[in-house]
Amino acid sequence: MTDASHDVLICGGGLAGGSLALALAGSGLRVALVDALPLAVRADAAFDGRAYALAHASVRMLRALGVWQQVAALSQPILGVRAVDGRVGAPPSPLALSLGDELEEGALGAMVEDRVLRPALMAALAAAPRVTQFAGARVIAQETGPGEAAVTLDTGARLAAPLLVGADGRRSGTAARAGLRRTVTAYGQTAIVCAITHDCPHGGIALQRFLPAGPLAILPLPGNHASIVWSEAEAQAAALLALPAEDFLAALAPRLGHGLGRVAMAGARWSYPLELSLAESMVAPRLALVGEAAHAVHPVAGQGLNLGLRDVAALAAVLAEARSRGEDPGGAQVLARYARWRGFDTAAMAAATDLFTRVFSNDLPGLRGLRRLGMAAVTAVGPLRRALAREAAGLAGDLPPLMRGEAPGG
Ligand SMILES: Cc1cc2nc3c(=O)[nH]c(=O)nc-3n(C[C@H](O)[C@H](O)[C@H](O)COP(=O)(O)OP(=O)(O)OC[C@H]3O[C@@H](n4cnc5c(N)ncnc54)[C@H](O)[C@@H]3O)c2cc1C
Repeated sequence: MTDASHDVLICGGGLAGGSLALALAGSGLRVALVDALPLAVRADAAFDGRAYALAHASVRMLRALGVWQQVAALSQPILGVRAVDGRVGAPPSPLALSLGDELEEGALGAMVEDRVLRPALMAALAAAPRVTQFAGARVIAQETGPGEAAVTLDTGARLAAPLLVGADGRRSGTAARAGLRRTVTAYGQTAIVCAITHDCPHGGIALQRFLPAGPLAILPLPGNHASIVWSEAEAQAAALLALPAEDFLAALAPRLGHGLGRVAMAGARWSYPLELSLAESMVAPRLALVGEAAHAVHPVAGQGLNLGLRDVAALAAVLAEARSRGEDPGGAQVLARYARWRGFDTAAMAAATDLFTRVFSNDLPGLRGLRRLGMAAVTAVGPLRRALAREAAGLAGDLPPLMRGEAPGG
């Protein structure tokens, strides 16, 4: 028997799918949220070691959804961003990119750990009216018929609604089953993620060091803590991950520079293979993609989740408007509005992070000189610096209501 009591089916209850469910339910839509993993697994503090650099606009959106209030005390405002070119053991180049107090809105964004953000989102979902969760249930088939999309779960249940959303990550089965092709470019790099404690305060500065093998980010967490994202060539990363903790720290320390004083490991190491993965379209008949199901980018600029949240905010706005006009939420015109709104931003961010990764992950002397000059030039030119700060904070362009801080349905 088919359960057709929902307006939207979401396949994937990660940070993108979960935020979308909250936003849609807030504007009056009935949502079915399906995720292959049980709730207890996703809520576990050891589920994901990442900490996210959330842009100012993403923080606004999470506040509008009632989630940020639960995590604010455990987050760290990003008061500045500094990007420097360097080599292991050598002092950082004085020609750097620096952003700080360019925004009249306040901080550029905030850092929050996954183990803080994800449980807060899940608690909000558990309390949300109009969200029915199917946890520990995998979508194994889907079809599109007149006026509806339907999915079959591995539990045997069948759900149908006018619109299906694929929020099932960079290997999106939803996109594949709809016949959408993907372009996948492996970077041959792995990101090692871990946390450290340090003696000297970080001052809220997110530091990106461009080393020849790949970028290394030192991202501020509350207190004298930082999250490290160390991108290395795959084989080298595997060897580093196999080292005992003290040997790993000995390899990491010379890459951090000297600003933090004495450092120590805080907890486990995680690893994430890095690739650019783009679906050929963000929509198909009765289907929209959000988050990494549509686009997974290199974490070099800390933009992946921010991009996903921008998808969510735009789709929520388009569907709320469709609802107020009495339109079919899965109709071709409604989906075309979403694809138009998000297409350019997605392509631009994918191209920018890809170029960044290629230009910075090498040690060619000519290129090294050019990129150092480029970063210093942007820092020296006020209007350029302000434009970049607005871009990094997610405040540039046509912002959906959630990213302006307006509550859903408000
Ligand atoms: C090292 C690293 C650092 C990063 N740092 C930042 C940062 O600082 N700032 C930032 O903005 N972004 C960052 N990102 C990117 C960010 O982590 C991702 O963009 C984000 O987590 C993706 O969320 P998602 O919900 O789109 O996908 P996912 O988290 O992959 O969620 C997909 C969900 O779908 C479910 N699923 C899959 N298949 C099925 C199925 N058939 N049926 C049911 N459910 C299914 C899965 O169980 C999963 O829960 C970083 C990424 C990396 C690798």
